[in-house]
Amino acid sequence: MSADDIDVIVVGGGVVGSCVAGFLAEAGKGVMLIDEGLGGGSTANAGSLHVQMQSRFMQLYPENVPGMQRQLPLYPKAVRFWQAFEKKLGADFEIKKNGGLMVAETEEQLAFLRTKAAQERLLGLDVEILDRNDLDRMAPYLGPAVIGAEICLDEGKLNPLKCNAAIRRWLIRLGVVLREGEAVLTLAREANGFRIGMAKGANLRAETLVLATAAGTTSLAAQLGINIPARAEPLHMNITEATVPMIGHLVQHADRMITLKQFSTGQIVIGGGWPADIVGERNHPTVRLDSLVANATLARHIAPQIAPLRIIRTWAGVNTSVDGKGVLGPVPSVPGLHFAIPGDAGYTLGPFSANLVAAMVLGRDPGEDMTDYVPTRFS
Ligand SMILES: Cc1cc2nc3c(=O)[nH]c(=O)nc-3n(C[C@H](O)[C@H](O)[C@H](O)COP(=O)(O)OP(=O)(O)OC[C@H]3O[C@@H](n4cnc5c(N)ncnc54)[C@H](O)[C@@H]3O)c2cc1C
Repeated sequence: MSADDIDVIVVGGGVVGSCVAGFLAEAGKGVMLIDEGLGGGSTANAGSLHVQMQSRFMQLYPENVPGMQRQLPLYPKAVRFWQAFEKKLGADFEIKKNGGLMVAETEEQLAFLRTKAAQERLLGLDVEILDRNDLDRMAPYLGPAVIGAEICLDEGKLNPLKCNAAIRRWLIRLGVVLREGEAVLTLAREANGFRIGMAKGANLRAETLVLATAAGTTSLAAQLGINIPARAEPLHMNITEATVPMIGHLVQHADRMITLKQFSTGQIVIGGGWPADIVGERNHPTVRLDSLVANATLARHIAPQIAPLRIIRTWAGVNTSVDGKGVLGPVPSVPGLHFAIPGDAGYTLGPFSANLVAAMVLGRDPGEDMTDYVPTRFS
């Protein structure tokens, strides 16, 4: 494909940018996807398909709770979208929708979950409160400290390594031009489009530009006069050696930072938002020993049977947080410019959000009310 055949440039090759590029290519557009190759949330995430509101976000960013609640009805749709996407690509994403448990250890935490569940039910989620007897039947792997839980039946898990690889194969099949390992440094408006200054010196031109650059969006958007306050959150992850199947659910905690799940390989993936560092000139996410120890200790407390397992790998990645909601769609005052930031639990929301943005780029009805997600709301 020559430069003249490129209709749209998508910057940011995480799950969102990749899927926007793929959906546009499927619609017949010539698409170039640019990524600086440092990896973002999509190459580091835990593979949880989140639906219920995450207590971690509610505690860290209480000011974002109304935003999260507004976007909540999209989450079950996003999980169903992943399932349909897996079928469409003929791939195996290892999706399991066995439900997600948010556990409580005290009456106070259980009361918090009851209130949360009541609000979520009003927003259409399928959630219930379980007592210890229920958990003994359904989740005997939970330790004795757990007294109850909220279950959300739409939650589950997938294997992001498999998803990312299948999505990449799909882009190659569709003829998307992949320009990798090179950052976009400058953006400027010019007649009928944008001039894109690349780190290695070249300039590109695009009439239509989609910024799916997660936390990198703030500095790029500012050059076009748009304020997008995207925060980078470096986070820690652990994975154990494989063991017999024992944990069917996605497990979280009402008051502490943990996500716990078991992949089809038998490995237990332990995350939940423990901090990592960003170091060096390349802003590389790097693990912290205190996070490793605290995260693993908490996991063992919640599910004591995993105690003998060795942690075989740890890693860090950068999550992006805005105001609890996605930043999705066009900027009417800058024709041709679109944003694509999914919102909290952005891997869960990724392909679904990308499909909404692709529809808007194509001038089609996205099928959702997009008022909450307009990129100009911070101006
Ligand atoms: C450790 C961790 C665990 C997580 N676990 C989960 C989970 O279990 N479930 C869930 O739903 N979500 C999870 N998340 C969040 C989720 O991974 C992200 O929200 C999601 O992947 C964001 O996708 P994205 O495509 O918007 O951005 P990213 O995947 O961050 O991709 C953005 C891309 O833009 C590129 N980029 C940025 N600036 C530039 C530039 N100037 N030029 C060129 N390229 C640029 C970057 O290189 C990057 O590849 C987790 C995140 C982390 C860090």
